[in-house]
Amino acid sequence: MGMETGRRRKEVGETVRCSCCGRTRSWTELGMFTTDLSSEFDLAEGAVTQTVVYCRDDSDCRGTAQTLRLIQSASVPAPGDLGQAPYYGAD
Ligand SMILES: [Zn+2]
Repeated sequence: MGMETGRRRKEVGETVRCSCCGRTRSWTELGMFTTDLSSEFDLAEGAVTQTVVYCRDDSDCRGTAQTLRLIQSASVPAPGDLGQAPYYGAD
């Protein structure tokens, strides 16, 4: 008889969803792009920042990370082709 230990090996690398394409990747495959949005809200520098998680190996995601807006201000229209913008680490 075999002992079934299961395959629930605890992962060392936490997986996070890319803010750009929505794929779930491990941290080692992801980069973070922080944008200061304070000027759009008429606030002091550093008051409002967003951090976008993107696939480092995907040039599309890199490009999206620089233009993606997770925080919407009144003057910036919501991007229509992105659908939902998932927040990372929302587990
Ligand atoms: Zn991606």
